[in-house]
Amino acid sequence: MKIFLTERQEKIIDIVKKHGPITGEHIAKKLNLTRATLRPDLSILTRSGILEARPRVGYSYNGNSSLIKLANQLHKIRVRDFKSLPVVVGENTTVYNAAVKMFTEDVGTLFVVDQKGNLQGVISRKDLLKTTLGNNKDVQQLPVNVIMTRMPNIITTTNDETVYLAAKKIVDHEVDALPVVRTFIDSQGVEHFEVVGRVTKTNLAKILVELGEGK
Ligand code: ADP
Repeated sequence: MKIFLTERQEKIIDIVKKHGPITGEHIAKKLNLTRATLRPDLSILTRSGILEARPRVGYSYNGNSSLIKLANQLHKIRVRDFKSLPVVVGENTTVYNAAVKMFTEDVGTLFVVDQKGNLQGVISRKDLLKTTLGNNKDVQQLPVNVIMTRMPNIITTTNDETVYLAAKKIVDHEVDALPVVRTFIDSQGVEHFEVVGRVTKTNLAKILVELGEGK
């Protein structure tokens, strides 16, 4: 619920869960605040359906509110249920061919992998744009591994992560896509990240549409 609510609103919910039905006056007392201070919070919580207010009885918790159901869904749906196929290029692919691949595959992010399919880097639209605009290097010769964002600086997700966590990573790190990886350790004890999917802002928008349609 942290996405939607302030710390004080969460405290109010906890109190109502424990002591409800409880009057606004009593909630205020427990928080050492005045009833007037709490009024906007109580109004938000009742309008959103999280709390139910009954005259002369007080506030009670409504675990069935649509907001709580939505939050629960976002913590339930896993990356494996909505990821897309990854679109990958090899490290020696030229910048020119990477740009062509972006168009032909209709994606905004390419993942760069080694011969075993292990994640090495990420190339975004603007990475390609910067390279083609910024200097006179021959994009038909220049390999993508010179311009990509490389490991270990890549933000990844896994099949088991929730839609909420994947979306939070995209927002917090200001990127458009996350590679879905399967981590494994080879016989020499080195950790590798096999690319098994792709989560993008488009995937997340589609989930919102489905949730909006009650699916
Ligand atoms: P664009 O640059 O086209 O707006 P992004 O916002 O996704 O696309 O990319 C911004 C920068 O972050 C680029 O330099 C890109 O290489 C890098 N980047 C993209 N995705 C990731 C990721 N999952 N982890 C780390 N860096 C990323």
